[in-house]
Amino acid sequence: MCIFCKIIKGEIPNKTILEDEGFLAFEDINPQAKIHILIIPKIHIENFDVMPSDVMANMTPFIQKVASKVGINGSGYRIITNIGREGGQEVNHIHFHMVGGEQLGPIL
Ligand code: AMP
Repeated sequence: MCIFCKIIKGEIPNKTILEDEGFLAFEDINPQAKIHILIIPKIHIENFDVMPSDVMANMTPFIQKVASKVGINGSGYRIITNIGREGGQEVNHIHFHMVGGEQLGPIL
């Protein structure tokens, strides 16, 4: 079982920000910004390349709620999802990095 599925099952502890029946948002263990949250679906989906559009559609308002809950919806933030080997994906369970809480530099 993948590490994020173990987090969802409660086998590995996490610092939860927001949870509903379909999704979980929790703090990244190695934050790259003042706010660094991972947002995942509870069903195991490898990455964005195979993400079903209905799951993505439901995930969008959940992500927006997370931004609102941590108070960065007005100031702005960045959502990143790494895909596959060359995309730098280390955990093969789709996750969106939400980073913010400070001025971010350019990534491209
Ligand atoms: P990626 O490189 O896009 O696959 O990102 C994986 C992310 O998962 C990294 O930012 C890690 O710091 C994070 N991570 C790995 N294990 C844990 C964990 N147990 N709890 C929270 N974040 C984790």
